[in-house]
Amino acid sequence: MQGAYVDPDKCIGCTLCVSISPKIFEMQPDGKSKAVNPTAEATDVIEKAIAACPVQAISMKDYN
Ligand code: SF4
Repeated sequence: MQGAYVDPDKCIGCTLCVSISPKIFEMQPDGKSKAVNPTAEATDVIEKAIAACPVQAISMKDYN
């Protein structure tokens, strides 16, 4: 199953992905986003978040 992954080394904490999908992404105490429920939504929503991230921190990952 395809899901979202956030690279914590790249994330600048802009919160854009969280506004696109609060189901998948959640801001962490360190100020970075994390895909807490990476497969919670269809891939088109993840694609939207990937496209919106200003630093290309989000990618698609296989969670099988
Ligand atoms: S959109 Fe990108 S930079 Fe912004 S919080 Fe999400 S992962 Fe981090």
